[in-house]
Amino acid sequence: MEVKDCVFCQIGLGKIPAKVVYQDSNVLAFLDINPSNKGHVLVIPKNHFSDLVEIPEHELKPFMAAVKRIAEGVLRGTKAEGFNIVLNNSKAAGQAIPHLHLHVIPRFTGDDLQIGSWRHLKYESEEEMNKLRDSISANVPAGEPEFPREEKSELPKPKVKRRSKKEVSFIKREIEKA
Ligand code: 5GP
Ligand code: ZN
Repeated sequence: MEVKDCVFCQIGLGKIPAKVVYQDSNVLAFLDINPSNKGHVLVIPKNHFSDLVEIPEHELKPFMAAVKRIAEGVLRGTKAEGFNIVLNNSKAAGQAIPHLHLHVIPRFTGDDLQIGSWRHLKYESEEEMNKLRDSISANVPAGEPEFPREEKSELPKPKVKRRSKKEVSFIKREIEKA
């Protein structure tokens, strides 16, 4: 997509008006015109990247640092009690504007906002889980030199005390209930 066809690039260039809450040389943040809660902010990199896959890692560092500070601004500026950060990546995931953006949505106890309504499936077996784990792990690309990937993917075994039979059957019942 070209800059002239991209709504968020046009906002970045000041050609489409927006209520800008923050900007620096890399990042722009402005109010979403159709907020999920009042004070809902969109944060974009000024450079055009269609989504998270496209942005180089070194550009993410200043981006995420700004997101942290903007989120604090949303929290305090709206007197919210919390916030959600949402990234819809690709059309299938609900991304309407193909210029990477994070939603920072202020949250208030009892605000009745549903952030997604995701279903919860169950794996058929541990083998199925292992296969997926291995396949996904093998497909994570190497990072840029500044962000090297940990070679050792095995997590250290957690030190857990053995559960009693009573505890195990309680947990099983809770899982079945869920
Ligand atoms: P997406 O579904 O792509 O994750 O979210 C796009 C968001 O951009 C929507 O929440 C929508 O309300 C917002 N939006 C779309 N066009 C404009 C615009 O021209 N100005 C502003 N401020 N927000 C927009
Ligand atoms: Zn753009």
